[in-house]
Amino acid sequence: MTNTSAEFDNSIVADDNVVALTDPLTGLGNRRRLMDKVRKLAAERADDPAPFTIGLANIDGFKPINDLFGHAAGNEILCQIAHRLRACLPDGGFVARIESDEFAFVLPLVFEKKGAEKIGRMFKEVLSAPYDLGDRNVRLSASFGFAVYPFAGEQFAELMKSADTALYRSKRRGRSQITVYSEEIAEEMRYSTEVEQALRRAIIANEVEVHFQPIISIADGAILGFEALARWTDRELGFISPGVFIPLAEERGFIDSLTESLLRKATQTARDWPAHLFLSFNLSSAQLTDPATSLNVMAILNSVGYDPRRLEMEITETAMMTDPETAASVVDELRAVGIGVSLDDFGTGQSSLGRLRDFSFDKVKIDRSFVSEITIDQSSEHIVKAILTMCEGLNLKVIAEGIETPEQAAKLLELGCVCGQGYLFGKAVNAETTYRLIKADQETQIRNRNASLTSLNG
Ligand code: C2E
Ligand code: MG
Ligand code: MG
Repeated sequence: MTNTSAEFDNSIVADDNVVALTDPLTGLGNRRRLMDKVRKLAAERADDPAPFTIGLANIDGFKPINDLFGHAAGNEILCQIAHRLRACLPDGGFVARIESDEFAFVLPLVFEKKGAEKIGRMFKEVLSAPYDLGDRNVRLSASFGFAVYPFAGEQFAELMKSADTALYRSKRRGRSQITVYSEEIAEEMRYSTEVEQALRRAIIANEVEVHFQPIISIADGAILGFEALARWTDRELGFISPGVFIPLAEERGFIDSLTESLLRKATQTARDWPAHLFLSFNLSSAQLTDPATSLNVMAILNSVGYDPRRLEMEITETAMMTDPETAASVVDELRAVGIGVSLDDFGTGQSSLGRLRDFSFDKVKIDRSFVSEITIDQSSEHIVKAILTMCEGLNLKVIAEGIETPEQAAKLLELGCVCGQGYLFGKAVNAETTYRLIKADQETQIRNRNASLTSLNG
């Protein structure tokens, strides 16, 4: 084990200040020393208006590491991080530890975004190598936020706040991200906080609606079922796409209550449909890492009185990858009670064939990006063909997503794909319109049947 805790920041002359300005665990400077450094530099640069950069690095998921391996191991990792950061600091740079798992840098010779990103990538690389804990190796990642003086602030507090906003954005975007503060980023953060607040309010007020997009038999347009899609229009913010608010609810930790309310609404509507029509519902990634998901789903279905065999859950590959073991058991439990499971957006994630073998699915939904190119791009056609052949062998049904033109529909039929959805057959519409669609579809089916009977008899 490398023990770096005894080392002190050698740039400080040993005096009474050393203790007050030093982080006792790692020997790096602390927040006060960082503040001194930044203030001094800002004062120098006030006359000579050359920019400089400050940065923050926060270790991703440090708490679970501490919980899993114990505090001594956690401390050892922090010391090794300090050691690595100090070793790779660029000329004139300074690093401090300012919170348990947060480090700050001053980079006097980094003047703009590109330079900060380059240093961020280098730090990221350096921190991603395994940590030696004697009996085991541990890997971790870090998120970064940078702020360039004087654009992101002239005073220490303001600069730190900007770096913090940038770091927060990195954290929100997942692990190992690097963000350099800008006015647009600040605006983006303000907007998402506004959306978050409005969405929380809308969920409580039960204002997030469910619309339904028909899934049809491509050959004759007969309706087979519907995909439930969340719809939300805020009084002030206007229409907000689920592509925006679903990930936001996931990030900010309230997707569970949203999903529950959507599933309840969707099944209450679908309960009144003819029994042969199924409901397809999108499960979010958070639910795939929660072992209680199938129980929660069943509790809703029981209280609504909806037959689980008429429900399909759409999940994405990316969502399954976060915690494949839990995801696999959630999928198995759902299927055990008769709920079908479809792999959504197939072809856009890792599309690992192993996953199709290891997980038990019922359906695969071919992503719109292939369907929309199928008549103009040979490789998309080949990919769709390959997916269809593979799914046939694995006994999986296939739905083509995003069919917009009759040519695409014809091509899909020619390749042997019989089910699909897309604007050609209908956009997502509210419960009432959905019901009218179902009625009209039933009438068409009866008319078709009568017509074929007449032609047979005649
Ligand atoms: P998704 O599950 O892949 O849903 C299909 C998306 O493609 C929907 O967008 C749908 O309106 C759109 N679409 C369908 N046919 C066509 C077409 O022919 N052309 C084009 N250009 N688009 C088409 P939407 O409703 O904006 O939803 C976006 C994504 O948001 C969904 O992708 C799904 O991942 C997520 N989402 C929507 N509702 C929910 C929900 O209730 N829960 C969860 N967890 N996610 C949801
Ligand atoms: Mg879907
Ligand atoms: Mg999809």
